[in-house]
Amino acid sequence: MGAGALEALLSLLFPPRCPACGRYVETRGGWCHPCLHAAIRVRRLALTPMQRSVLAAAWTLGSYEGALRDLVRALKYQGRTEHLRAIAVFLRAASPALRRLLQEDGGARLPGARFDAAVAVPLHAARERQRGFNQTERIFASWLADEGLAMERLLVRVKETRPQYGLSREERARNLMNAFAPAAGAAIRGRRILLLDDIFTTGTTALHCAEVLRRAGAVQVAVLTLASGQNS
Ligand SMILES: [Zn+2]
Repeated sequence: MGAGALEALLSLLFPPRCPACGRYVETRGGWCHPCLHAAIRVRRLALTPMQRSVLAAAWTLGSYEGALRDLVRALKYQGRTEHLRAIAVFLRAASPALRRLLQEDGGARLPGARFDAAVAVPLHAARERQRGFNQTERIFASWLADEGLAMERLLVRVKETRPQYGLSREERARNLMNAFAPAAGAAIRGRRILLLDDIFTTGTTALHCAEVLRRAGAVQVAVLTLASGQNS
């Protein structure tokens, strides 16, 4: 059976549904129009003075709630890579609003013109082996290809850390102390880097990654996340 026939059979057995409300949709990974537009919440994230000293900007495409949170959790903790389609559809739909924000923030409209490389927050090698993939790389892969921006592995996570969830800001900082380092032979000096993560809560992870990149000579680091738990 060819891929097309298999797809048709799957659609017959399991008709595609909107990940937010469960209504039937035309294509696998599709959302119904109202749910997709409700999930898009492209905005700037608030940074502390210390974060502002190393991060040029922080943007999110949605809020860490509802369908977006369910999709990310299922991807990360149950390895449900079939949800990547719905996430890719979301990213594409959120893209025009992100471009407007990039322009307002004093730069080129297109991520591929504004940055030299994209870097996903790395997982520790043991965690990545266990999960089978870095979820942030998978989340942004097709969107980056559309935007003409290359994903590069410029950072490594050298320390296995506890999950940040439920820790105070101080504990988060201590947990991540010396957790990241430049990858061997990474071209960082003189480059403008878009740091990517799946979720932005207090921004401690982004801060630590950005510090390593800036120390290694990056001229600018900004962060883009799929979803944020920061209320605004
Ligand atoms: Zn819906």
